[in-house]
Amino acid sequence: MARAVAELVAIPSENPPGENYRLVATILENYIRRFGFAFKRLQPKTKARNLKESPACLLGEYGRGERTLYFHGHYDVVPAQSVEQFKPMRNKHFLFGRGACDMKGGIVAMLYGMRALKECGAGLCGKIALLLVPDEETGGARGSAWLASEGLLGRGGIGMLTAEPTSGVVWNANRGAISLRVEVRGKAAHVGLQHRGENAFERMHRVVERLLVLKREVESRSTEHNIGAEPDLKEGSEGLASRARHSILLVGGQSGGGANFNVVPEKCWFTVDRRINPEEDLELEKARLIGVFEECQRDGIPLGWEIFQEGRSGACSGDRELGQALARNVVAVTGEAPRFEMCPGLLETRFYAARGMPAYAYGPGLLSVAHGPKEYVDMRRVAECGAIYALTAGEILGM
Ligand SMILES: [Zn+2]
Repeated sequence: MARAVAELVAIPSENPPGENYRLVATILENYIRRFGFAFKRLQPKTKARNLKESPACLLGEYGRGERTLYFHGHYDVVPAQSVEQFKPMRNKHFLFGRGACDMKGGIVAMLYGMRALKECGAGLCGKIALLLVPDEETGGARGSAWLASEGLLGRGGIGMLTAEPTSGVVWNANRGAISLRVEVRGKAAHVGLQHRGENAFERMHRVVERLLVLKREVESRSTEHNIGAEPDLKEGSEGLASRARHSILLVGGQSGGGANFNVVPEKCWFTVDRRINPEEDLELEKARLIGVFEECQRDGIPLGWEIFQEGRSGACSGDRELGQALARNVVAVTGEAPRFEMCPGLLETRFYAARGMPAYAYGPGLLSVAHGPKEYVDMRRVAECGAIYALTAGEILGM
């Protein structure tokens, strides 16, 4: 197992920009075939020649029939902090490297879980479909979002598990996201001729003020879903803990503009990151956010915006049969009952939840090291998760 994780980690499938997808997909295809599963490649027919490679979604299947339990994983990783991260390093039970926990280690756990079932000769009433996709880290354009738009995602699905690094809890919900960049325009002029210019910064300030009115309103709403307990919160900080439940509007994560201190700025830009709770409606919240910009335009502020990320929230009860089977088998393997919580970020369970399927994330990694410079996975957890996936699938597909 560790060798498989290391082999995958060594391929820098960084996204953005989405590199080396073909290489990593070939390794995964080889594992799927070598383990004796049916294999299929799902690929957008693209005419764009400037795409370095046309990435594929990979499907490995064990069992037969319509009823399908999906094991879902993504093989892209966020960019590394240093190239050293693509030289996998083993230290006792721990395997270090970019993607070790998010989520190449998780993919290997799923592969070996399926293999275990096959080696036991488990006769499933239905099948497990291991679906491995690219582009997860940037919204799923050529991965899950594409599959969903083609009607290829979740066919015959009775449920879905994904191996994201959940730090021992089960994620049964996720926040949605609308992330955009706003540019406010003005007219440049030298400071001495300021009266001839139009100050984009001062205009931007007016836009931000209106956004802050929306922010106050948005952030008065809370989610009912469980939020991860923050271990660094001291006693008496219930205020902070309850604020973690609030809906989110982050203004100015990035900003910039202006040519020099002595020039009236011609344009200024900033980002807005709106994270919506599962109880909120994406279309409605998007309309309200865009409404602020339209109102500014009507009041004569020249501006434009570009949405660069958009994803739905999703939620399913932990009480569904799959959720309960997963929880039972986590107890059976680890001795501890998992909590059901809302994932703080986007999660591809949303594509399945949108189709009414129970969808949960549970994986071997720690969220606190994912995307970081010291990313690692504990191989003992990878083995445990493989067993948990196998037992859960066996239960759900009536072994
Ligand atoms: Zn991930």
